[in-house]
Amino acid sequence: MTDRPLQCRVCDSSDFIPVLDLGLQPWANDFLTKEQVGKEHLYPLHLVYCSSCGCVQLDFTVPKEVMFSDHTYVSGTTKTLANHFAETARYVRNTFFPHATSPSVLDIGSNDGTQLVQYKDLGFDTVGVESCGRVAAMAEERGIHTVVDFFNEECARKLPKKFDVINAAGVFFHLEELHSATRGIKHVLCEDGVFVIQFLYMKSIVENLAFDQIYHEHLLYYTLRTVERLLALHGLSPFDGYLAPIHGGSMILFVSHAGRRPVSPRLSALYAEEDKAGANSLSWYQKFAQQVQRMKTDTLAYLSAKKKEGKRIFGMGAPVKGNTFLNFCGIGAQYLDCLVEKNPLRKGLYSPGTHLPIVLEEELTNPPDVYLVLAWNFKGEILKNNAALIARGVEFYFPVNPKE
Ligand SMILES: [Zn+2]
Repeated sequence: MTDRPLQCRVCDSSDFIPVLDLGLQPWANDFLTKEQVGKEHLYPLHLVYCSSCGCVQLDFTVPKEVMFSDHTYVSGTTKTLANHFAETARYVRNTFFPHATSPSVLDIGSNDGTQLVQYKDLGFDTVGVESCGRVAAMAEERGIHTVVDFFNEECARKLPKKFDVINAAGVFFHLEELHSATRGIKHVLCEDGVFVIQFLYMKSIVENLAFDQIYHEHLLYYTLRTVERLLALHGLSPFDGYLAPIHGGSMILFVSHAGRRPVSPRLSALYAEEDKAGANSLSWYQKFAQQVQRMKTDTLAYLSAKKKEGKRIFGMGAPVKGNTFLNFCGIGAQYLDCLVEKNPLRKGLYSPGTHLPIVLEEELTNPPDVYLVLAWNFKGEILKNNAALIARGVEFYFPVNPKE
């Protein structure tokens, strides 16, 4: 166990205001073997608001060595995600480097190389940095050179060159060494380079009530204003960006050395929408917390009613975020028989905290009456793949129901 930081991870202020208490929770990515069931550590999961810079964040850090040196999240698992990565790579190539021969790209938190494969196909020279050796080995097998390390300034300075593109998909809010990592990015970004940062957009999380995306790996919950502030501290500035539907609302932000490129009209429009919604104010987050409590009540009422009718209920998906949801709502074996998952690395494991067995979708013979959908971010894919079950009357319940 480590510290409860007394200071904001972005601005160093110590004026934290509690926003949402999700209780004591196990590390959500730590799916358990049968022997590990009941032995998991619990850590506080509290969202706090920095009244100085407006950045919401966790007030407790599970050590990164616990969280990232071994994990079972593999980005290659779903088609939606692979398509999204391909689209991002194509956009970067066509927009910023249409004529360059063999531009270089560094991917931070490169996972199994799913994103870099897309860049490689477009003629990029690729390097990945990934902290989990097992996952990095999967990338090497695909021909993607991968440095096994935690990315920070020290790691950046050891890299042999600077890069035209630096990509950080979903990893930027994980970074415990936030300022060191940002300095590292500043150091290895070419003069006219583009840093592509993808993060869960807190405005979308609030609008979708997707509180399940709050878990120990995600230390920070950025809006455009807060990420702009962080980058400015290190001589970097966003110049373009758009909101992609992936994970219910991910911001794809293009960043250059400060002032190198003019701010695009669509990014200016996104800033304006954020300001208009009051998305950096305390009251915005307090309202969110109330709505989350109401959603918990509604979901439990729904599940209880179905159980009374004698229905069999399974969870659809065993995503990491599902554990925040299940643990906060207190949904275990009294409601669900199992979680049905595609990722073979999670086969035979149990969900942390709630101890539900994970069954692979392909091995399932007898479907339930109701699916509680935890992998709601793949709603379109799930509804399409299960059209036959839905036609037979199997219900799919989405507690988190993002706007399409
Ligand atoms: Zn702050």
